[in-house]
Amino acid sequence: MIHDFTYLKPGTVKEAVAMLADHVDECKVICGGQSLLIVMRQGLVAVDYLIDLKGLNELNYIKYDEKAGLKLGATTTHRAIEKSAVIKKNYPVLTAMEERLASIQVRNWGTIGGNLAHADAAGDPAPVLISLDAKIKLGSSKGERVMSLEEFYTDLFETAMEHDEIVLEVQVPPAAPKTGSAYKKFNLIENDQGVVAVAVTVTADKAGVCTDAKIVLGNAGVVPIRAKSAEKVLIGKKLTDKLFAEAGEAAAGDADPVSDIHASSEFRLHLIKVLTKRMVKQAWDQANKG
Ligand SMILES: Cc1cc2nc3c(=O)[nH]c(=O)nc-3n(C[C@H](O)[C@H](O)[C@H](O)COP(=O)(O)OP(=O)(O)OC[C@H]3O[C@@H](n4cnc5c(N)ncnc54)[C@H](O)[C@@H]3O)c2cc1C
Repeated sequence: MIHDFTYLKPGTVKEAVAMLADHVDECKVICGGQSLLIVMRQGLVAVDYLIDLKGLNELNYIKYDEKAGLKLGATTTHRAIEKSAVIKKNYPVLTAMEERLASIQVRNWGTIGGNLAHADAAGDPAPVLISLDAKIKLGSSKGERVMSLEEFYTDLFETAMEHDEIVLEVQVPPAAPKTGSAYKKFNLIENDQGVVAVAVTVTADKAGVCTDAKIVLGNAGVVPIRAKSAEKVLIGKKLTDKLFAEAGEAAAGDADPVSDIHASSEFRLHLIKVLTKRMVKQAWDQANKG
């Protein structure tokens, strides 16, 4: 049973953040409703005001520029990202991730801003975007700020967003030359959320040495986890099968997975080792083709 609420529909971002400021402790924003309505039905969230961002077309965009990189407005749907030719060309890992996120129905309605703000540890976009060094732009009636997506996540379903702020945009820098990215989730039901997931971005130099590596684990803790020990295994070296396997072992050491109805923590650690090894190899092969 959903608690009664007053529905507010702003026409602009300015109106939306003003409404939020007016009702800050008694309201929530809604966009696609694919996560929020579930928790409202369960009675876990009960608010007096719901501010609907879905119609804010000024936040519905995909922009790409070779120097500035990619900008995704918060109300852009998963389906629009999946189908974007410019994303497929420049960030194919994002296309592949979206193709396996939920069903077409959910992707048609759910938005990138809602997904990131919901801060579900099993969400797919966050690990991939963090491995691509993404930033998130937040706005309130007091102004705007930009922070790294990695720092945005503070705890399970918790973010660094203040109660009067909304997500405005996701920013992804252009990839350096000879960079490759890969993402894989292990799921029990096709296109469902992952039991665990691993996102990798690596860069090679002309001599075939790994100059940068970002490995991000999904659903391996309460927030997306940078596997920094695994990254250290790779940076400064010419990568080999032995190093791919060592990175997998190190990534498991960086993880902190729970046991739940889907999998034990031991099984999750095993998956992290295997997926990290495979995704580093996949990303490395791609980097060396570029
Ligand atoms: C059947 C099903 C399967 C799913 N499978 C997957 C999956 O495999 N992988 C995956 O990653 N996700 C999955 N999801 C989750 C889905 O991707 C998200 O629910 C969706 O992207 C959230 O976007 P939304 O616009 O619907 O957010 P909403 O449900 O409207 O909002 C979610 C939360 O974000 C807040 N919010 C929304 N927009 C903003 C904003 N602009 N600024 C600040 N806060 C905001 C809301 O207040 C709320 O707390 C699944 C969902 C369903 C129903």
